[in-house]
Amino acid sequence: MTKFSDLNLNPKVLKAVEEAGYETPTPIQEGAIPPALEGRDVLGIAQTGTGKTASFTLPLITQLARGRARARMPRSLVLCPTRELAAQVAENFDTYAKYVKLSKALLIGGVSFKEQDTLIDKGVDVLIATPGRLLDHFERGKLILNDVKVMVVDEADRMLDMGFIPDIERIFGLTPFTRQTLFFSATMAPEIERITNTFLSNPERIEVARQATASETIEQGVVMFKGSRRDREGSEKRKVLRLMIDGEGEKCTNAIIFCNRKTDVDIVAKSLKKYGYDAAPIHGDLDQSQRTRTLDGFRNGELRFLVASDVAARGLDVPSVSHVFNFDVPSHAEDYVHRIGRTGRAGRDGKAMMICVPRDEKNFDAIEKLIQKEIPRLDNPLGNTAPAPAADDDAPKAEKPKRTRAPRKPKADAPSEAVAEQVEASATVEASTEPVADTPAEPKPERGRGRGSSGGRNRSSNREDRGGNKVVGLGDHTPSFIELSFEERRAS
Ligand code: AMP
Repeated sequence: MTKFSDLNLNPKVLKAVEEAGYETPTPIQEGAIPPALEGRDVLGIAQTGTGKTASFTLPLITQLARGRARARMPRSLVLCPTRELAAQVAENFDTYAKYVKLSKALLIGGVSFKEQDTLIDKGVDVLIATPGRLLDHFERGKLILNDVKVMVVDEADRMLDMGFIPDIERIFGLTPFTRQTLFFSATMAPEIERITNTFLSNPERIEVARQATASETIEQGVVMFKGSRRDREGSEKRKVLRLMIDGEGEKCTNAIIFCNRKTDVDIVAKSLKKYGYDAAPIHGDLDQSQRTRTLDGFRNGELRFLVASDVAARGLDVPSVSHVFNFDVPSHAEDYVHRIGRTGRAGRDGKAMMICVPRDEKNFDAIEKLIQKEIPRLDNPLGNTAPAPAADDDAPKAEKPKRTRAPRKPKADAPSEAVAEQVEASATVEASTEPVADTPAEPKPERGRGRGSSGGRNRSSNREDRGGNKVVGLGDHTPSFIELSFEERRAS
């Protein structure tokens, strides 16, 4: 069995690795580190969780341990698709380079240019950046890439999804032809293949097994769910999610909940929060300080539910997630593999549960085809396509609670149906910043169309209360004209 000490790493790097508690290199590390140290290009087909970050950081630090950077001319460049991933690589770098004197700068959006400029001016050994921010600095004339000796591209397939490939090509063109390239991607889409053929020179190709096929520690399940009505699907789906979470009880210590769209990330997080669940959203439109705060909270166990988009969550290293909930079926089958890979890590057990609505069945089939496994069907916690009176704010009249019933006192952790109505209404109105009362004392009067008759009833009973008269119209009162004979009515 290969040991880290067999890999020719700098002794100071080895010491840091040892302190990190790693005993043996992972397959991607074993495959990528030796050619990287020889100065060869590397094409690593591996995804997050395989130890790929160390597979490029360790040789990078070893190579950079000799020599010094000049002002504004970084000696190496690591490109990452998202800010979080870049920040994570920077953290890894700090861990492994703690005994080697190297400087680094992190160029990500949401951080002031000034601070970053100051660092670059001093000269950095490692520049970790997202492509957009890197090019911004370059265009402002603050950065010269002529001295880049090693360039790393991490999560290239995600770069492709995010439309960064033209930026990457441009950055390749700005660095010296003689640079070494370490290129990582979870999959090899044709466009990625094209880039590697163009910019990598005779790379050593290392492919490690797909996580989903390898990880048997993840228990999977899917609820095939059909909303009672299309306009209620969202709120009912959110209810299904809550019931799935509740069904897991204490086994669900923490979870990532994935949604396909950023707006849904916000809506689901807001809805869960209103129902008393400890949840917060993370996606690319949130400001950096909020993203960092949320992520730190989730990592250190202060936050239980992270509601995330693929992009924000991609590559994040969160060591122990007990559950992954796919609120939506991902539209790319590969994303399912990435998503569920957040749980069941490092030999721990994990559970991944998904909700599939009819229009997602095609995508669902593609997932089962990719993982070559049938995902067990779980019971719909709402019952079979039964309408969900508690979750919706416009349930059919027949299922509405009787309006004569005294309002239930809502509990703090289990909002009443009236609260649910308001929560769902407020959660769907994304732009609304109106605070929603968590525990209103009384259910709100019905609003909107189609409620005229009950409104009429209420008005009538009010009249009765005021005057002590009989109920008019529907009770035992008979309008006098009904008691007239047909002839009498005609005459009147
Ligand atoms: P990555 O695929 O780079 O996101 O790494 C996933 C996780 O594996 C991180 O928490 C690393 O700290 C950890 N890790 C990386 N290399 C090793 C190793 N050789 N042994 C044990 N854990 C490792």
